[in-house]
Amino acid sequence: MYDPKSMKAEEFICHEEILETLAYAEAHKADGALIDAILEKAALRKGLSHRDASVLLACELPDRVERMYALAKQIKLDFYGNRIVLFAPLYLSNYCVNGCVYCPYHAKNKHIPRRKLTQEEVAREVVALQDMGHKRLAIEAGEDPIHNPIEYILECIDTIYHIKHRNGAIRRVNVNIAATTVENYRKLHDAGIGTYILFQETYHKESYLKLHPTGPKHDYAYHTEAMDRAMAGGIDDVGLGVLFGLELYKYEFAGLLMHAEHLEAVHGVGPHTISVPRIKHADDIDPSAFDNGIDDDTFARICALIRIAVPYTGMIISTRESQAVRERVLPLGVSQISGGSRTSVGGYEEDVRPTDTEQFDVSDQRSLDEVVRWLMELGYIPSFCTACYREGRTGDRFMSLCKSGQIQNCCHPNALLTLREFLTDYASPETRALGEKVIQAELANIPRDKVRAICADRLEKIVQGQRDFRF
Ligand code: SAM
Repeated sequence: MYDPKSMKAEEFICHEEILETLAYAEAHKADGALIDAILEKAALRKGLSHRDASVLLACELPDRVERMYALAKQIKLDFYGNRIVLFAPLYLSNYCVNGCVYCPYHAKNKHIPRRKLTQEEVAREVVALQDMGHKRLAIEAGEDPIHNPIEYILECIDTIYHIKHRNGAIRRVNVNIAATTVENYRKLHDAGIGTYILFQETYHKESYLKLHPTGPKHDYAYHTEAMDRAMAGGIDDVGLGVLFGLELYKYEFAGLLMHAEHLEAVHGVGPHTISVPRIKHADDIDPSAFDNGIDDDTFARICALIRIAVPYTGMIISTRESQAVRERVLPLGVSQISGGSRTSVGGYEEDVRPTDTEQFDVSDQRSLDEVVRWLMELGYIPSFCTACYREGRTGDRFMSLCKSGQIQNCCHPNALLTLREFLTDYASPETRALGEKVIQAELANIPRDKVRAICADRLEKIVQGQRDFRF
């Protein structure tokens, strides 16, 4: 029944296979010899199967757990260096016909104000985001064929890409909207989107059906097979995720990795990113009503094991997590974080933080400038680079560069250049001063003379306003 190459949700996310995996992991959680063998395999940096990774998730031997964390940190450094890419969500509309029981945008919520941005409002949000320094957005919308049809989403994307305010520009629009048809995915692809993101929420079918009692999202197979349709529509960067707290985390972890294995088996390219959201309080949503919440230690272990199991897949942590939790998981393999986020429709433009349309409470409420400074204080290079996508380094081309460890040769200079853009155009004096020191130190570390010289030249041109190159 289990077949990673099948195009049927219930065969590539096979319930029986997950149950057997969990039983196997439980039976071997103290099997030192097996765990050592899996860790040795993991050290080859070629990833792990859902079974092997599940054994590591179940493992209760403290010294082996320490080795997992050390390996995750090393893989993060080898594949992603010390760069962290920054982005912000942009909520377009909270109209929604679905009944997701964890989301305040569910159709039965009659007291939450419903809002949908006009194109003028989208433009004002984008100006506000550009003025913060953002170059990369993830657009978010509820599912509503009347209020938010694909034409509306496409119009918003077009508006976003066309706003050029001062030195600002949004260079990559990632899209997080409900599962749709191949035809619509093709339209999104043609509109020049970056990653198509869709969280599975839960891989457990029975729970999925209960958690999505009404609306088109109720269809488990249609939702689970969405990434295959996205790829058939020409989108080769897709982002997976589960909403931790809905189901048993061990089940979700195995399902997530099986989904990644399926994409790799069928399309020759795994997910571009994996997100790890946890349920948050929101309007009429109380996270304690869900039985499967995970603590910070478990959350950190999951992050580390995703890094080990799919080393070439980016990992995203949003502002759902606090500064402290983000600080803890950054070294374990995170490659992208959001900063200065608003999760309400129209939240960036308004002076007073609006909470009435918020999708969930934001834990990390710092400004983008503060997040950038904090990253540098921790030894990271904040990056606003979007070059891979515009240079066509997506999908399997990105993966093969990443798998060979080469991506750093492009990414590191680009990270420094986009950081310099941020410092010159948007940073506070304090952040700028620290950033300049960081850039000088990092520049000196670029090993190839030619690359270093080009980078130094362009860094200077940015300050002088001669920007005839983009990242
Ligand atoms: N409507 C689209 C869909 O159904 O996929 C877009 C997704 S929604 C704007 C983004 C994600 O937020 C959801 O996929 C869900 O995982 C997450 N989310 C919803 N309610 C949440 C809550 N209370 N706390 C944290 N995350 C939540």
